[in-house]
Amino acid sequence: MSTTLTQGQHALLENELRLARERVEQALKAQLNGQARVAHAAALLADDPREWSEHEADREVDQARSDRLLVELGDIDDALMRLRQPGYGRCIDCAAVIPFDRLQQLPQALRCLDCQTTIEAAR
Ligand SMILES: [Zn+2]
Repeated sequence: MSTTLTQGQHALLENELRLARERVEQALKAQLNGQARVAHAAALLADDPREWSEHEADREVDQARSDRLLVELGDIDDALMRLRQPGYGRCIDCAAVIPFDRLQQLPQALRCLDCQTTIEAAR
């Protein structure tokens, strides 16, 4: 069974995903440049262990941020791939059609709002 998305809606979502991908990629690039600078500064300060540990903490925060961006990038790529398949736009849990409103806000959404809320409440 196909989804209820029209071709126009489909194109809109694909465009949305491509833009989101660009945003995340740019954020990731900026993040990695920042990390390189921090690593360089940390190397210069390596003979002061106290300073080093402060930089180490910064580095961990940066790392967490990059990890999040990478996960987001993966979700977007995944959605771009699913968009070409018949199952896109259906909830992976209950198979309900995900309303276009929701897809427009979050094209990489895997679940309808009900199922997503249930999952988040369970966490
Ligand atoms: Zn659902």
